[in-house]
Amino acid sequence: MPNNVTENVSEIFGSKVFNSGVMRKRLPKHIYASLLKTMKEDLPLEENVAEVVANAMKDWALELGATHYTHWFQPMTGVTAEKHDSFISPTDDGKVIMEFSGKELIKGEPDASSFPSGGLRATFEARGYTAWDPTSYAFIKGSTLCIPTIFCSYSGEVLDKKTPLLRSMEALDTHARRVLKLFGKDVKKVTSTIGAEQEYFLIERDMYKKRKDLILTGRTLFGAKPPKGQEMETHYFGRIRGRVANYMAELDRELWSLGIASKTRHNEVAPAQHEMAPIFTNTNVATDNNQLTMEFMQRVAYRHDLACLLHEKPFEGVNGSGKHNNFSMSTDTGENLLTPGDNPVENKQFLLFLCATIEAVYKYSEMLRISVANAGNDHRLGANEAPPAIVSVFLGEQLTAALKSIETGKPVTAAKDLVMELGVKSLPKFIIDATDRNRTSPFAFTGNKFEYRMLGSNQSISGPNITLNTIVADVLSDYADILEKADNFDSALDALLQKSVTENKNVVFNGNNYSEEWVEEAARRGLPNLKTTPEALSEFTSEKNIGLFDRHNIFTPTEMESRQTILLEEYSKTINIEALTMLSLAKREISPAVLTYTKEVIDTLSAKKACGATIDVSAETTLAERLSTLFGEFIKSIDNLEKTLAAAEECDSAQTEANYFCEKVIPAMNEVRVTADSLEEIVAEKYWPFPTYEDILFYV
Ligand code: ADP
Ligand code: MG
Repeated sequence: MPNNVTENVSEIFGSKVFNSGVMRKRLPKHIYASLLKTMKEDLPLEENVAEVVANAMKDWALELGATHYTHWFQPMTGVTAEKHDSFISPTDDGKVIMEFSGKELIKGEPDASSFPSGGLRATFEARGYTAWDPTSYAFIKGSTLCIPTIFCSYSGEVLDKKTPLLRSMEALDTHARRVLKLFGKDVKKVTSTIGAEQEYFLIERDMYKKRKDLILTGRTLFGAKPPKGQEMETHYFGRIRGRVANYMAELDRELWSLGIASKTRHNEVAPAQHEMAPIFTNTNVATDNNQLTMEFMQRVAYRHDLACLLHEKPFEGVNGSGKHNNFSMSTDTGENLLTPGDNPVENKQFLLFLCATIEAVYKYSEMLRISVANAGNDHRLGANEAPPAIVSVFLGEQLTAALKSIETGKPVTAAKDLVMELGVKSLPKFIIDATDRNRTSPFAFTGNKFEYRMLGSNQSISGPNITLNTIVADVLSDYADILEKADNFDSALDALLQKSVTENKNVVFNGNNYSEEWVEEAARRGLPNLKTTPEALSEFTSEKNIGLFDRHNIFTPTEMESRQTILLEEYSKTINIEALTMLSLAKREISPAVLTYTKEVIDTLSAKKACGATIDVSAETTLAERLSTLFGEFIKSIDNLEKTLAAAEECDSAQTEANYFCEKVIPAMNEVRVTADSLEEIVAEKYWPFPTYEDILFYV
């Protein structure tokens, strides 16, 4: 694709999406109206409507060159799944016509026995069905019409990441509307809105192909620190160089054609690291969009002889990648519920939603932590470049002062001698101070939204948003229960806000989340610090969490247990693959390289010795000794890892197995790495079997 943007972006935008504009043009008026109602109000789709929509969709797709269709869904693997069927249908005269029925649009039946189900379905009854989710538009990818769908088993158990997300949005809608009603607002729908900023690394494809660890595990399992790291801080927001700029331009066009509003692109902190931020949209669509974004980041990289790394920590000692999940709630009338208002009444409504979110984060902080737990993210959370594993909320000085004033009922002095003459009764409009931002906070209020920053770059945003929607819905439901019964709404609201601020202020922290003092302070405040994935996941089925999801019909207790098993197994499998890859590289690539180089040193040593006694061979001797000693330690660490890994088979539950991988296998892997990295530093470059950090990070 050419880089000179002469094409009309507004023409490209959404050109591959069967969106409301296309529907309006192509559907009979009453069908369009009926579909619109279905989407806006989450009503079931009528069969005659589906038939007409399917036909229009097919015609549209054929015009754009599609030959196949697929029910595009999001199983528990965290990546999207698709099985393509062609539109062809044979005719009597030996030809084909292109067909697509309403039934095919609404339902598909993938043979889904190989998707993880955590024991929910025995394989013999492993048929699941997918059902069209009309709240997310169909789109064309390559020559395939993709129909976003949900994925359930025949007995109704949820098998995907989409169904619970939609249910959680429903719960939030229900309880947010109950609250808004008390403020005299009869809106039709409240949805959460998400803008997911995506970080990634871009490296030379040739380098990538030479590293089995990157290919098989997504991260480097070996690699000594390069002489230059990110300490010069020249990369962040630096000039975007030619190849990367071309890549970004093409990525933007691909995303725009899919209706994904890619808005901002820049270089990130680490060398070779970049970020893309889309314009926010409703959570359901944002989730689909983020999956597509990750897919296209990789596809487009391929076309440019690059590789896009989405792993949370591709390089040790270099910043990892995360995803910033910007969250707010919005009405169908376009009101952002986390925007501070212009007058006291609006501000009270704002404060209610603000307090509800803070309370939800405090009450269910374990669940928030769990929703971002995976093997890759364990390398980030708590390391000193990412938020810690402790969940806290950043509000900034002004808002903290405002809440203090609510708590005490007295005016307080905020930053810069700004006296906040407030109390709940006359809260002024908060000035949104863009500079007053704390980059270290895991959950930061940024003017009119919360930015949840603990997500890993590679994970689906579905889980964290199922959690966010549900926990906020839960607190709003409590608030609505209280306020609906109140004789005097205003005084009940004042009392409620004061109580909420007082009881939940422990979770508010505006300081440096990376500091050791915060870890200690958080412990004093009793905030949970679930450091590793197995530790976090063990809390997944706590009474509190099961109650939460059951109460709002998101997951049954059985579904929670099955999900916990899936996640624990996914963790163990990930570490297992990493350990096996490490062993293979250590034995078959690194060891031979060390031996070859050692032989060269020893050959030199003996050649020199053969020349006579006057030649000094102490340097060669020292080097040979160093190599041999390190190599001996290396082989020992390999043997130890092998033994440790073999013993993992004795674990008798998903939890004990995950614990074992975390506590025993990872330390054994670290030993192998440390010795290998020391060897890398003294073995001649020409013998080292794969590209080093320096080769990979500084040449795109
Ligand atoms: P930054 O955090 O880099 O300063 P912005 O504040 O402009 O950037 O926005 C970051 C992300 O937050 C963008 O993806 C943006 O679309 C998203 N965002 C802005 N408003 C909302 C909202 N009301 N709900 C959800 N996301 C939002
Ligand atoms: Mg951000």
